[in-house]
Order: sequence, then C-alpha cells, then structure tokens
Amino acid sequence: MVMNKQYIIEPERKLPILGEYEVCVVGGGCTGTLAAIRASRLGVKTALIEEGGCLGGTCTKGYISSWHQERDVDFNQQILAGITFEIIDRLTKRNAVIFRKRDPTQSRMRQISSYIINTAELQIELDEMVAEAGVIPHFHTLYCAPYIENGALRGIIVETVSGRGVILGNIFIDATGDGDLCVSLGEKTHEVQRKQPATTCAMVYGYYNIPYAENIICNHMSEYNLYSSGWNTPMPNNPSGTIWGKSNVSLNLANAQELTQAEIECRRQNRALMDLLRKYGDNGDRISLSSLSMGVAARETRQITCMYTLSKEDVMYGAHFYDAVANGSYPVDIHYPDKPGATYYYLNGICEREIYNRSFEQTRWLPEGAQYNTYWQIPLRSMIPASGRYGNVIVCGRAIDADPHAFAAIRTIVTLNQTGEAAGVVAAMAVHNGNSIIDTDIAQMRELLKKGGAIVL
Ligand SMILES: Cc1cc2nc3c(=O)[nH]c(=O)nc-3n(C[C@H](O)[C@H](O)[C@H](O)COP(=O)(O)OP(=O)(O)OC[C@H]3O[C@@H](n4cnc5c(N)ncnc54)[C@H](O)[C@@H]3O)c2cc1C
Repeated sequence: MVMNKQYIIEPERKLPILGEYEVCVVGGGCTGTLAAIRASRLGVKTALIEEGGCLGGTCTKGYISSWHQERDVDFNQQILAGITFEIIDRLTKRNAVIFRKRDPTQSRMRQISSYIINTAELQIELDEMVAEAGVIPHFHTLYCAPYIENGALRGIIVETVSGRGVILGNIFIDATGDGDLCVSLGEKTHEVQRKQPATTCAMVYGYYNIPYAENIICNHMSEYNLYSSGWNTPMPNNPSGTIWGKSNVSLNLANAQELTQAEIECRRQNRALMDLLRKYGDNGDRISLSSLSMGVAARETRQITCMYTLSKEDVMYGAHFYDAVANGSYPVDIHYPDKPGATYYYLNGICEREIYNRSFEQTRWLPEGAQYNTYWQIPLRSMIPASGRYGNVIVCGRAIDADPHAFAAIRTIVTLNQTGEAAGVVAAMAVHNGNSIIDTDIAQMRELLKKGGAIVL
C-alpha cells in the first residue's frame, strides 16, 4: 500500500464521561501525587491521572532514589518539610531509607546530604497515602487532548484500557513533567537544545565487589562507546545491590522518535557496562543485571512559559520572593552528555568540577569572604502560564518556568515536591473561593501551606 497523505481526519465520535471532579491532576509523578494529596486534604474531590501503573514517576519508574537535603547551604536552618518528610518518615519506619551525611572529603556532591529511598517501597507508600487522603487515582490513563467548551477548559480526553473517554473538572494541574496539558492548550514553551542527559537506571548486584569499578569504567569506556561513569547509590537494607545511572543520551524525550532512539541506546549502554566490567573487573563474572528502570527518564525536556522565568542569577544569588512556594539550596548541577563528570555551583561560592570519576577540582565563583544568601526560592508566578488564556490551569514539577541554569538547581525531587504541594493548595483555594488561579490570595496560600506542614519563609 502506498500512502501519499500527510494526515487523515479522525471521525467525530461520542465519548463517555469517566468522572467529574473539582480538581484534576494530570501526571502521577511525585509532584502530581503531592498536589492531589494536598488538594484532597483540603476537602475537594480530586482525581489523579497517570499513564503508567504506579505513582512516583521518575522516582519510582525511573529508579531515582536520592532525595537531597532539607537544610540551607550552611546546614544551619531547615528550609523545607511538608509531605516530603511525611514520606521519608513513613519509609524510615520500614527501613527503606538510608541517610547519607554530607562528606566534604568523600561524596560525589560534597556539600550535600541525601536520603536514599527504596523506590519499590515508595510506590506502595504513595498508593496508601493517596487512598488515605481520598484521592481517586486513574492508572493506565493517558492524557490525550483538552476538552474545551465556550473557550474554557472543562475536561481532559484520555485513553484507557477500557477505551477513550473524558474526565471533567474545574481546576487542572499539569504535572506531566513535559507540560503535555499546557502544550496542547497552545501555551508557549522554551527549551535548551543541548539537554542534560537522560538515563535508564539499572538495578545491579555484585557491583560493590568489583574493586575500583568506576576507574575501570573510565579507563575502558571509549572501547564500548560510553560517555560517562555516571553514579551509583546503595539500596536500603541490601548491601550487595546498587542502583546505577550510567547510561546517558542527550536526546529530546518529548519527541517520539528521539524517545524511541533513547530507549534503545540507553539499554545498549547498560549492556556495554556489564560487558566492560565482566571483561576488565575482578569478580566481574559475578555481577548481575537485575532489572532496568521502566523506561528512560528525562532530566529536562521543555519549560512552560509562565508569568516569571526563574533565572540563573535568582538561583546563584539566592533570590527571595513575596509569592514563594518552594525553598532550596541545591547547587546548579551541570551534567555533561558527552564526557564524564559534572560541575556544581553552590550558593556559598564554591564551584566543584568533577574531572574524572571521583577526583574533584574546587574553585570559587564568588570571591572568598563574599556575602551570600543561604537558600533560593521559587515564586508561584513560575507555575502560572503566561498567556492567561485559561484561568483554571496551573503547572507543577519539571515543566515549571526556569532558564536552563536555574532549572539545573530546581529540578531536584525535594524542591519540585514543594511546587506540587503548592499547586494542590492553590487549586483547592480556587475551588473554594471560585477565583481563577491568577487571583490567588498569596497570604492565604502561604498560611494553608504552613498549616499543612510546609516550611514557609
Ligand atoms: C537520570 C536522572 C537522575 C536524577 N537524579 C536526581 C537526584 O539524584 N536527586 C533529585 O532530587 N532529582 C534527580 N533527578 C530529577 C528528578 O528525579 C525529577 O526532576 C523529578 O522527579 C520530576 O518529578 P515530576 O513529578 O515533575 O515529573 P515526573 O517524575 O516525570 O512525573 C510525571 C508523571 O506524569 C506522567 N505523565 C506524563 N505524561 C502523561 C500523560 N500524557 N498522561 C498521563 N500521565 C502522564 C508520567 O508517567 C509520570 O508519572 C534526576 C532525574 C533523572 C532523569
């Protein structure tokens, strides 16, 4: 069959209404899940729409287990809490968390502490927390298109295992990571061409029994067409296991063809790493690839153009905002798609460059003795699409508005989780007060965030 057509017209059809909610969260990553829990706890009927079969997104499907520090850069002040710490506390009770202290002599990011989480336990914990909050989850439900009535967003068209349908709602939260809802509403986006690498993580047994494994990888990576020795984290309560993130591609995962290419290339790299270690590592014959994450995960795809673009200067110099919804002290963290290592710019003026494997070069980007702010903030305006066309849509998570350098600091889980909580609170307020998102009462929002356990500075 020869087809010369560029497109076809999809026939019109009637769609069943699958549900009607006050708040509809699209995307069940950690930020979407926290948004839904927050909204539901404030008494609004909330749906959580997720294309996969579990909650947690990159943190569960992608095996990303390091939740970074809750303190300012000097470690003097706690700057974030909220549902993030409810989760850490609950998982700690199940021995599913390792606390990794900052260690200026040893660790990869020497000025940072982390909670390493068992990502399988996290999946189950999020199911339970969502149920306790009264959120209605819709799994294996792919958001496809907006349902617009008289110029207003009234619902979302989804594809499910039972067929296509529509879910109606009053307020919509775009927590898809790629900003799928906003893009289909015609909101403007911006993106960097040379993206920080996407990765397929692996669960590997026996890696820690290979002496100098990372040196071995660095010494032989060109033979296997590899670009980075990446990182590895221990698995809570399992001394022989590691999660590693050593495959790297700088492709656009919001593009269907590049996403396919990335899946195949990252799997190839994981096999190449196994082959390399088996050939050159002592005990390499005893290493075992246990599982691969449920697909390649994106560090960045695109940002929705919102009312405020968080800038490199905001994050490097620790800007504070009247409408702040999140606080952080994580450094601007630049990973390279084509060579080993990363560079970290900390608020206190330290710049660390990981040159080769774990060897570091430390310089300063601020002069010694210079004043600095110990944390930065994200304003609510970076979550409200700039066009103002739809007053009932807010973004949280990976797609909020930041320039590439600012994004390299704010993309961490504990930071973005706060944007999820804020989106949930703002959405519930909009339902209760009958206002559009842009008219959010900032003082009331901050009060509700605080009441729900967040640290509001
Ligand atoms: C390799 C790698 C390493 C990282 N390392 C760290 C680290 O060490 N520490 C750290 O703090 N952060 C790290 N990050 C960043 C962090 O994991 C992410 O920024 C964060 O988890 C993003 O959360 P999110 O909820 O915004 O998006 P996601 O986790 O991407 O969640 C989006 C969810 O929406 C769903 N979805 C998407 N489209 C649709 C649709 N059309 N319909 C229905 N559902 C949809 C997806 O299935 C997914 O569950 C890393 C990221 C990567 C990729």
